[in-house]
Amino acid sequence: MFTLLDVSKIQEQLYSVTSLPCPHCYTTVTLEITGYQLWRYNNNASIQDLLPDVEIPVRERFMTGICGDCWNKLFNPDEEEYDDNNCTRFSGNHNCYGY
Ligand SMILES: [Zn+2]
Repeated sequence: MFTLLDVSKIQEQLYSVTSLPCPHCYTTVTLEITGYQLWRYNNNASIQDLLPDVEIPVRERFMTGICGDCWNKLFNPDEEEYDDNNCTRFSGNHNCYGY
């Protein structure tokens, strides 16, 4: 399952679509797709079939919204910027909930 937000027509057979906002940094990405791709989306095509040339991190943004940067922070917590004070969440505008 994936979601195309803010579908808007640019011209005949060309539409812009926006990803879900990243749950951590609230950024989105916008792509252009064809009318045929939009039709296939509305007919439940998988994202792999619909956007075979789009990089996996970008596809991810249409499924969960998580951006590459936040994904890296979530799954590679040893990298820089990680706040290693017993907080299980990455640093930057986060709440530790007292952990
Ligand atoms: Zn993010």
